[in-house]
Amino acid sequence: MPMSATLITEARVLRADGKATDASDVLIEDGSIRAIEPAGSITREDVSRIDGADKLLVPGLVNGHTHGHGGLGKGLVEDRVPLEVFLSATGAINGSRTLADKHLSTLLTAIELVRKGCTAAYDLAVEYPLPTLEGMSAMADAYAEVGMRAVLAPMMADHTLYDALPGLMEALPPDLRARAVAARAQPAEAILAAARDILAGWRHDREGVRPALGPTIPLHCSREFMTGCARLAEEFDVGLQTHLAESKAQAVLGHTKFGKSLVAHLDDLGVLGPRFSGAHGIWLDDEEIARLADRGAGIVHNPMSNLRLGSGVAPARKLLAAGVRLGVGTDASNTSDGQNMFEALRLAAFLSRVADADASHWISAEEAFRAATLGSARILGFDKIGLLEPGYRADIVFLRLDHINYVPLRNPLLQVAFAENGAAIDTVMIDGPLVLADGRLLTVDEAEVRRKAEAARDRLDAANLSAIEAARPFRDLVGHFCLAHARTPYHVHRRLPDRG
Ligand SMILES: [Zn+2]
Repeated sequence: MPMSATLITEARVLRADGKATDASDVLIEDGSIRAIEPAGSITREDVSRIDGADKLLVPGLVNGHTHGHGGLGKGLVEDRVPLEVFLSATGAINGSRTLADKHLSTLLTAIELVRKGCTAAYDLAVEYPLPTLEGMSAMADAYAEVGMRAVLAPMMADHTLYDALPGLMEALPPDLRARAVAARAQPAEAILAAARDILAGWRHDREGVRPALGPTIPLHCSREFMTGCARLAEEFDVGLQTHLAESKAQAVLGHTKFGKSLVAHLDDLGVLGPRFSGAHGIWLDDEEIARLADRGAGIVHNPMSNLRLGSGVAPARKLLAAGVRLGVGTDASNTSDGQNMFEALRLAAFLSRVADADASHWISAEEAFRAATLGSARILGFDKIGLLEPGYRADIVFLRLDHINYVPLRNPLLQVAFAENGAAIDTVMIDGPLVLADGRLLTVDEAEVRRKAEAARDRLDAANLSAIEAARPFRDLVGHFCLAHARTPYHVHRRLPDRG
């Protein structure tokens, strides 16, 4: 059987050494890069050709942490809202969704990711009251329809925010406490059974969309539930991702609740290992970072969301220096307002410069770009994406070199990392086929998706209005409670982690 072969001609290619080639031909067979050679030196007739002249080919960016359910939530999270206040309203914000809404929200996220140069993503997706195979399948279908890779994990917890944060329930006035008690989460056994159904019933090709598990936040998970998730991840050979030390309140309250750091807690439960990744990883001390490195765990840096929610700055240099696998993510479009991995990687580089005057400690353009491609790919568990080299899958973003971002062109990697915003994207290839060409999405009808999204907005905003209003009295209380903990000196360690 002849394999399908494509030759991209006369393109410049950003290769593993961080340097762009001169005009080159790229041979792709069966979705894999077979050869990258000087233009004109691959003489094959049995190929379809794509003109790559005046284009810079870069590896598709890989999003190490997002939430497809945020796609329909754009513009819904008010300005100046910290993490826990946002969490106090998430049930209301994401409520009333039909199966079609869940599919649509993920579709919106996937479309934006591809349009902005991302070809694979790790998605922690929520469903209420329990995750379902049907719901996860609808979301997986959305990624498959758009034509991108994804790791899709049901986001789960057996404690609500009010059970999770020690002292918070007691801090509520009686009327609100009664409501918080009535809104308790599903028991661990029921959630684990639902997760097992999803993993056992998974029908998507795992090279396209694979399942994982997302016990959402360590404080929100009982020991039994967290260890149950870890056991399931082992049994089904899938990844496990949680939001790790995203806020200072989480880090401080982790000590109150577990008597040790969040990382030590997870380690003692046997959760840390190569299949584990922590999203955000901001309030980690040196001992935690060393332990994450020892266990082969990964951390996903989400600078845009961390700034939007005022969560802090992840110690990216320390993580890299310790040998922790570092990826980059956008987080959801409700708290990050979009899915721009170029912005995320640029912020990852620049935020490292805020707190450290020593330029030798700053995250370089190359380190940020590598974290947003190969680093995230390793966290997703795809070992043949993230580089443009023979043997790697053909997940390729074509950037127009006649775009003003590159006029004049001197240092391709630096200019991509520090100037690109997605505007110069011309074509996106994922696993061989083109998903976007000449700026047009080839796989789904975006006008139709927009019509559905506008209609869903009207319907969901009306349906969720009373729940959002009902959540409002909790906001100030949660905000003040967490602020008090965030203002507490981080004396439990007696050493505030250096930002940098
Ligand atoms: Zn998140």
